[in-house]
Amino acid sequence: MEIYEGIAASPGIAIGEAFIYNQELLIPKYSISEMQVELEIDRFYVALRKTKEEYEKLRNKIVAEMSEDEGKFLDTHILMTEDQSLIQEVVERLREEKKNVEWIIYQVVDSLFKKFRQMEDEYFRDRAVDVLDIGRKLIQKLLSQKNSSLSDISKDVIVISSDLTVSDTASMNKKHVFGFVTELGGRTSHVAILARALGIPAVLGIKDISHKINTGDMVIIDGLRGRIIVNPNEETTMDYGHEKTNYEKLENSYLALKDLPSETLDGKKIILKANMEIPEQEIDSVIFHGAEGIGLYRSEFLYLSKKRKVLPTEEQQFNAYKFVLEKFPNHNVTIRTLDLGGDKVLEGVTERESNPYLGWRAIRFCLSRPDIFKIQLRALYRASIFGNLQIMFPMITGAEEVDQINQIIDQVKKDLRKENINFKEDVPVGLMIETPGAVLITDLLAKKSDFFSIGTNDLIQYTLACDRGNEKVAYLYEPLHPAVLKLLKMTIDNAHKENLKVSLCGEMSSDIESVIALVGLGIDELSMGPISILEVKEIIRSLKYEETKKLSEELLKMKDYFEIKKRIQNWMKTNLKNHIFIKSSNFKKK
Ligand code: PEP
Ligand code: MG
Repeated sequence: MEIYEGIAASPGIAIGEAFIYNQELLIPKYSISEMQVELEIDRFYVALRKTKEEYEKLRNKIVAEMSEDEGKFLDTHILMTEDQSLIQEVVERLREEKKNVEWIIYQVVDSLFKKFRQMEDEYFRDRAVDVLDIGRKLIQKLLSQKNSSLSDISKDVIVISSDLTVSDTASMNKKHVFGFVTELGGRTSHVAILARALGIPAVLGIKDISHKINTGDMVIIDGLRGRIIVNPNEETTMDYGHEKTNYEKLENSYLALKDLPSETLDGKKIILKANMEIPEQEIDSVIFHGAEGIGLYRSEFLYLSKKRKVLPTEEQQFNAYKFVLEKFPNHNVTIRTLDLGGDKVLEGVTERESNPYLGWRAIRFCLSRPDIFKIQLRALYRASIFGNLQIMFPMITGAEEVDQINQIIDQVKKDLRKENINFKEDVPVGLMIETPGAVLITDLLAKKSDFFSIGTNDLIQYTLACDRGNEKVAYLYEPLHPAVLKLLKMTIDNAHKENLKVSLCGEMSSDIESVIALVGLGIDELSMGPISILEVKEIIRSLKYEETKKLSEELLKMKDYFEIKKRIQNWMKTNLKNHIFIKSSNFKKK
């Protein structure tokens, strides 16, 4: 039995067999004799045929489950498997170089990929990833390696991987993936956020773990403590079996709170909303946990979750937004415009950068691609008549960005009017406050906005110069750092001076110690993964606002986060001694 410690990224206990997921293909390179050349060419044609059949099958599945439109992107892949120039190049090089066909394909595809990437025409640039995908599939077929896409898993497993992309996580088959463990990543990385949203227990940041475990090993994930146990003994397995049952019981006991108001003992209402990434998978859980609307719909997952190779059309986006709006006839649904970049790379659309969190991300991407941005805004405004839509914009750093956004909105509205398309004129428009620069000008931004939503996942990383996805600096990532508290206070006060409501939609909103401080600082709304809503409601219903206000005033004078944390913990011992909070004791460090 081995025990490894990591970052508690998503709560819950999972017990099952390990499945080592490796995205890298090891491509052998060896020489072949003259006699083997024709045999290699035959192998190539067989692999081409099988690849084509696989794409056709996938297209038919997508068309059957979604729509003809959704399956269209695979037509290009299918055509490419018949492309004579590609086929000829492989065959000619094989004859000339006399190397194994996997190696030749790899070379040909790699140079084609680079050629496509440099093309002026956007359509061809976007095809670069398709070429890679085809090459990968061909090589998998030739090496008889199973395509281990996480959506294909049909056996109950615990996934172990050095790293997972946001798309990997979004396409996980939740029925069979009980939990996952990675070597890289932090608690507020989007992979972790998604794991919580989907209710999949996860531990991140365990060095070299994919080399220490074998497929088939028994693994327990303790997502509450950030620990995994490999090949546990009988006693440990039994203990965790009990813990799993108790955890599930506690979760069920919270359900009694579902329809009770979220207000403090002295009557201050704090609205609790849900964050959402993939509506089809999360909406039931959001409603089940009694969310009072959506505080953050991360719309970029519409682009990321289906491993799309083309951007969703206006119509597809319109349908997705309408679907969510109609689910909440009595509550606001806050849809955030595209926040691509950072750890949300969309191959062929955004680029891999050396400093992605400081780069071409979020609103910067949208303002420099008004063609893409306008399509999203048109879809949003068209959907606005189906519910209580609020639109918000991510990663604002300056007031001039807001002016640019407003100009584009005006243009979109003008076009819609011209086309006689119905929309709501007065959709509230808000800004995400997630950079220290934005906080420092909240007095100005408040005059240009209908509401604020504080994105602490980013605000903490930019304030403390600490990558939110890097396990090596996770010990520095501290929501209760005095600098963070001061920025929160400034944002809330400046907003309230202009009568703006302030929501907080970072992961801090489900961290119990932070919630106590936030209530005291005067936050109006908290938005979080649905599984945390009832536990946070439990705490809000146990507090007196006036007391937390006094506590927060004290906290703002303290010199470091150790002191702040200790003060809140002691305060909880005195004021909340009869309450057990398990799920939301976030930000456990390694
Ligand atoms: C945040 O930064 O806190 C936030 C909610 O946005 P995201 O996590 O998607 O960057
Ligand atoms: Mg953010």
